[in-house]
Amino acid sequence: MVASFQKSSINTLGSHRQRSIINNNNCGSTTTTTVEEISSDEWFQSSKTATLKSTDTKLAKESADLLPNSGDLFPWDCYEPSEPKNMDSAYEQLCQLHCRATKAAAHQVEDLVRRAYEKRDSAEAYVRQTIQDAWNVCHFHHLPKWLQDNDYLHTGHRPPLQSFKACFWSVFRKHTETGNIWTHGIGFLIFLVLSLYKLTVASHPWSLMDKAIFGAFFLGAVLCLGFSTFYHTVSCHSPQVGRFFSKLDYCGIALLITGSIIPWLYYAFYCDYYPKVMYTVLTTTLCVIVIILSLWDKFSEPSYRPVRATVFVLFGLSGVFPGGHWLISHNWFSDVSLRASFICLIIMAVLYLSGALLYACRIPERFFPGKCDYWFHSHQIFHILVIAAAMVHYRGISELALHRLSNTQTCDAR
Ligand SMILES: [Zn+2]
Repeated sequence: MVASFQKSSINTLGSHRQRSIINNNNCGSTTTTTVEEISSDEWFQSSKTATLKSTDTKLAKESADLLPNSGDLFPWDCYEPSEPKNMDSAYEQLCQLHCRATKAAAHQVEDLVRRAYEKRDSAEAYVRQTIQDAWNVCHFHHLPKWLQDNDYLHTGHRPPLQSFKACFWSVFRKHTETGNIWTHGIGFLIFLVLSLYKLTVASHPWSLMDKAIFGAFFLGAVLCLGFSTFYHTVSCHSPQVGRFFSKLDYCGIALLITGSIIPWLYYAFYCDYYPKVMYTVLTTTLCVIVIILSLWDKFSEPSYRPVRATVFVLFGLSGVFPGGHWLISHNWFSDVSLRASFICLIIMAVLYLSGALLYACRIPERFFPGKCDYWFHSHQIFHILVIAAAMVHYRGISELALHRLSNTQTCDAR
């Protein structure tokens, strides 16, 4: 590297003379510096000014301090006009200063470039966020493959929203999922409040076991409706998030069915230990099988809709066996509570089966394509029927529990 420091006015020395200095500087390289000799005052002045101009004040001060007093290096008063004896050392220091000033400038440029990149990135993020927030509903055919679920709903679909914030804000916008979100969202709140009230505040003759049994029902209902609300809210986030929450949604249905059957078995076969245990084990086993099936990737695909409906209907219908057993072995018609609970059981079965049928066949949008895009499509009706069925079932098991708990006769006395 050849650095040249050019100064033309040589007041004290009176002539221009070229010098070459070979030195090792702090940059780790050997430099050959071709210089012209200049006046000491001018040289010091320009060096100090150059270093102090640097915005890196610490470095500038350090560099300026490196410069010795001119009298130490250039004893002009004594030797004028002879050559200063420490000239080589002074040039070396000048080179070091130059090197350090170059480094400081490079750091400043690097810092400026980094800040410019950061600004660009934040501007890009802002623009992306603005576009995300300003999304519009789109036609079914404009959806990516992983979001295409029901082609009878023509318009009003959410596009992919790659942020959870945008997904949650979409709850307050009108699109094909709005009804699905709110139907189960409200149901979730109703069952959450009801469970907290019944298990903690309400006064009734429930023992700890009764609370655990009703707790199983409330847990199934709250988890099912909560998972469903979450799934319908974030299903448009990404294929991975959509798949994960759809699996949770199906697991929630399995838990609701299990949580509905177990309390009924407990109170229906209150004094029949073996049938109660046998049917409870059977229901729990079926629940585990359905959950394993729900975790299978293909299970959530649109083409598997009838398979899903069939699996959940069959699981729900598994309650027919203990139901038939109970009808034959108990004089259910003689007691008002037992009669009411049986009627509730029938209504619940009808509601669940109707919901599953509408869901599997996509009725009514099948007969009115494009007319039920926002409201009254099969999934919304299915959701409402699920909540109605869960409410009716709660009434049914409450009647059954009332009958058992008001009957002072112990099981041994029967
Ligand atoms: Zn749903």
